[in-house]
Amino acid sequence: MSSYQYRCAVCGITWDEVTNRRQAEQERDRHRREAHDGGVPDGDGIRAQDSEPWPGRGVLLAGLLVMLFVMYSSWHGQ
Ligand SMILES: [Zn+2]
Repeated sequence: MSSYQYRCAVCGITWDEVTNRRQAEQERDRHRREAHDGGVPDGDGIRAQDSEPWPGRGVLLAGLLVMLFVMYSSWHGQ
C-alpha cells in the first residue's frame, strides 16, 4: 500500500499522510487556494511512499541464508 504526503516548502508545512493520491491532491489544491491565492508555491509537491514490495529485502536475505545453510550442510554432511 502506498501513502502520499503533501508538503509546501514555502510555508514549511507537511500534511498528514493519506492513502490515496486524490486526497493529497485535494489538500494541495485547497492549500494553494487558501494560502497562495491559487498560485503554485515554489517547491511544493506530493511525496509518494511505497511500502516494501513482496518479497521484501528481509525475505530475500532469509532465503539466501537458508540456501547457504543447505549448501553448507550438503558439503559437510557426508
Ligand atoms: Zn504554502
